[in-house]
Amino acid sequence: MCEIEKYEFQAEINQLMSLIINTFYSNKEIFLRELISNASDALDKIRYQSLTDKNVLDSEPKLEIRIVADKNFKTISILDTGVGMNKVDLINNLGTIAKSGTKSFMEALQAGADVSMIGQFGVGFYSAYLVADKVTVETKSNDDDAYIWESAAGGSFTIKKSSSFELKRGTKVTLSLKEDQLEYLEERRLKELVKKHSEFINYPINLWVEKEVEKEVEVSEENQKEEPKKTKKIKEITHEWQFLNKSKPIWTRKPEEITRDEYSSFYKSLTNDWEDHLAVKHFSVEGQLEFKALLFIPKRAPFDLFEPRKKMNNIKLYVKRVFIMDSCEELIPEYLNFIKGVVDSEDLPLNISRETLQQNKVLKVIRKNIVKKCLEMFIEVNENKDDSKIFYDQYSKNIKLGIHEDSQNRAKLADLLKYKSSRSPDDYTTLKEYISRMKTNQSGIFYITGESQKGIENSPFLEKLKQRGYEVLYMTEPIDEYCVQQLKEYEGKKLICATKEGLALSENEEEKQGKEEEKQKCESLCKLIKEVLGEKIEKAVVSERLSDSPCILVTGEYGWSANMERIMKAQALRDNSLSMYMSSRKTMEINPKNSIIVEIRERIAVDKNDKTVRDLINLLFDTALLTSGFSLEEPHIFAQRIHRMIKLGLSIDEDNENQEKKNDMPVLNNQINEDMEAVD
Ligand code: ADP
Repeated sequence: MCEIEKYEFQAEINQLMSLIINTFYSNKEIFLRELISNASDALDKIRYQSLTDKNVLDSEPKLEIRIVADKNFKTISILDTGVGMNKVDLINNLGTIAKSGTKSFMEALQAGADVSMIGQFGVGFYSAYLVADKVTVETKSNDDDAYIWESAAGGSFTIKKSSSFELKRGTKVTLSLKEDQLEYLEERRLKELVKKHSEFINYPINLWVEKEVEKEVEVSEENQKEEPKKTKKIKEITHEWQFLNKSKPIWTRKPEEITRDEYSSFYKSLTNDWEDHLAVKHFSVEGQLEFKALLFIPKRAPFDLFEPRKKMNNIKLYVKRVFIMDSCEELIPEYLNFIKGVVDSEDLPLNISRETLQQNKVLKVIRKNIVKKCLEMFIEVNENKDDSKIFYDQYSKNIKLGIHEDSQNRAKLADLLKYKSSRSPDDYTTLKEYISRMKTNQSGIFYITGESQKGIENSPFLEKLKQRGYEVLYMTEPIDEYCVQQLKEYEGKKLICATKEGLALSENEEEKQGKEEEKQKCESLCKLIKEVLGEKIEKAVVSERLSDSPCILVTGEYGWSANMERIMKAQALRDNSLSMYMSSRKTMEINPKNSIIVEIRERIAVDKNDKTVRDLINLLFDTALLTSGFSLEEPHIFAQRIHRMIKLGLSIDEDNENQEKKNDMPVLNNQINEDMEAVD
């Protein structure tokens, strides 16, 4: 007797299954694509193992996928001769360990996403429950016996040993179809689905088909004597395997002969995407080194594009048409991790392994070419306005990361940058367009960074810049900080941060002269400010960038901006010692024309030790922290100061107030208070 073990599904997986079973989706047919895709992955895995260890194929040399529909039992089975799963894998992979995609997919579904997106979230297997009320998985890997997994959902599955598995190695997934899903028993329907979704699977897909043959049989009449004997034709039903995916690898064909539909259907089978690609680049390189490649930009960035632990499954590597590996990281830099495709090399050895890849020179050359072609593809995408918008909305982070990381292609990538700006607050503008609008005496490209456009649009840092008609770019993504740090200039024009030191705005001699005079007038105030604020600031100086506000805090040209400080503080794994060096050294800039500053200046001319002035300088500093994008270290002290101001505004006398508080107390307490006072 075989022992049957029962397991509970992990809670999120259980939830996902209920959602799949109980929600109405019309697009149920995608289950077949998902299961075929899993089969193909399993075949890829054993083929990859076989490159370093031929013996793994001994158990079953043939690599293929088979589909069998059984009308009597109302089942459909998908078989593959892939790696299979051992018992532990089976339990972990199909039910007890949830992937990050499980939850994300449910959220996406509830937000109205289509169920056909399931493959992208790495939970495609469960799509079987769109059409089946029971699923049975029989599987055998080289390192274990065969096992049977079975579940009719409802929170649990069972595992038992299999005694009669028909495969020597691989997996058979059998779906017991729901009564209203029997269309999937029809040959025609299955062929149509394989053609539609799985045409470009790289292993043969064979369907067990029914065939009617005419046969001549002898008529068995009694006493039949004549020769030749009388025969009649009868129809007989037989079965045979029909090979469904005949096309040769699409990347080996000539680009001129491939239709957009063919590219799109290849793209979909490669990526499990349900939508067409945004752009494609199909090319071959010949000469000293030979390879063919087919690269795609998806219309949407994956939900976990920047998840650090996520292994991207992007560029498949083939050598002479033989699949070598998924997600060959050496073929493409990280910032291009949204590109999907295949590369087929004529030069790499077939037995190349992940370990030897890193040093491989051929691979380095291929990689360089791929990056070049990607950049060409981006420029092509930019030629169409709609596509260009989709591209930038989805991948601007990648472009910026590229600028940060890829010094060789920095200039080309910078051509793709787009920002909203003070001149163009609703539409993106490129750096080239910005330069074309620059004023003749403008010292560089002005930009400001911050958390949101709303937050920076009216920043005091921009007062003078705007007044003088200089355009300022708005940078609101954390990655912008990293990007500009590396970019530094564009087409010979320096990028100048509006919140940092080094923003020289004086245009002519007269202005410079005026500034010098103001500097002298404010000298003692600046000194006093430094004295009052001490370590909190580096120094206080007269500002060139303010026209209305009394003061702001600027940071060193090469240190962190206030925004960068905010970003770094938010990073959980940050190294604290770095912030010691980098965190913003603040310079307070005061506006000599602002009435508050004028008044304070006049007061200290009379009495340098005016107590209110010291208090006000602290208050101005705290307020400047906020308007300059920093956070308050001691908000309660700031609040106390503000409250004091409010009371002043309301003419509340603090001493009186304290007295009233006492009078407010309930009688009993009042009594105690009086007693206490008596004791005192
Ligand atoms: P994904 O295939 O995207 O990882 P699935 O939910 O479809 O997610 O499958 C979960 C896991 O189960 C796979 O990662 C794989 O390890 C295993 N698996 C599924 N189908 C097969 C199969 N036919 N052969 C071997 N392993 C499989």
